[in-house]
Amino acid sequence: NNEEEDKIPEEGTITVNEKTVGNAVKHEFKTETKRLLDIVAKSLYSDKEVFIRELISNASDALEKVRYLQLTDEKALDESVANNPAEIHISINKKERTIIFQDFGIGMNEDEVNNNLGTIANSGTLAFLKKLDQSSSSAKENMIGQFGVGFYSCLMVAEKVEVFTRSAHKGSKGYCWTSDGTGSYDVAEADGVTVGTKIVIHLREDCKDFADISTVQRIIKRYSNFVQYPIVLNNKRL
Ligand code: ADP
Ligand code: MG
Repeated sequence: NNEEEDKIPEEGTITVNEKTVGNAVKHEFKTETKRLLDIVAKSLYSDKEVFIRELISNASDALEKVRYLQLTDEKALDESVANNPAEIHISINKKERTIIFQDFGIGMNEDEVNNNLGTIANSGTLAFLKKLDQSSSSAKENMIGQFGVGFYSCLMVAEKVEVFTRSAHKGSKGYCWTSDGTGSYDVAEADGVTVGTKIVIHLREDCKDFADISTVQRIIKRYSNFVQYPIVLNNKRL
């Protein structure tokens, strides 16, 4: 029957097969990033779900960038790009308490990893910090939701985050970025990384609902009506 067919599987199948090679290099977050992470760590539960919106929006931007290059400079791209789906995949695993986001977009090289996931490049996030300084404590509620603090929002719900990424440009190596959201992050080269970005979020015990199919489906529905690329949740296209 149709209802059975429409059901989303309870468990996703994205696994982590990437392997780091060589030594990880430890990097301190920039001062303003540390400040943002302190604020984000104290976020209210009601603010936390925005990380799903933020990661979907980044995946969508990354797909848009690779699509543009396919039209303008296809020869510069890795051959695998032509066969990758223009989709955003999300996979949750309740037992392992993980939620994984994978896109087949532009990916990042080593410099981009450090610049984009170590500093605050995003003007909206800088505006958020400024506004926060000027606001009374009651006005601070819900500000994370209103501004969207970008990639770093996933650290609101995570014990640890792993980002595996490989740039879509021909000949690029894969990298693994990891952090528990305190002062520093590690970057290592990695093998077996698909072009694009895979973000593995190891959820905190008090955030384990984000590995719950109905919760995640509801949040995706709320935020992602305007995403131009299909979202696939636990192998099921939404
Ligand atoms: P913003 O999206 O507003 O630029 P974010 O904090 O969300 O700010 O992301 C910071 C940067 O990290 C992005 O501009 C992008 O360069 C990089 N980035 C984040 N997620 C991805 C991704 N899935 N694929 C490629 N690059 C990404
Ligand atoms: Mg973003």
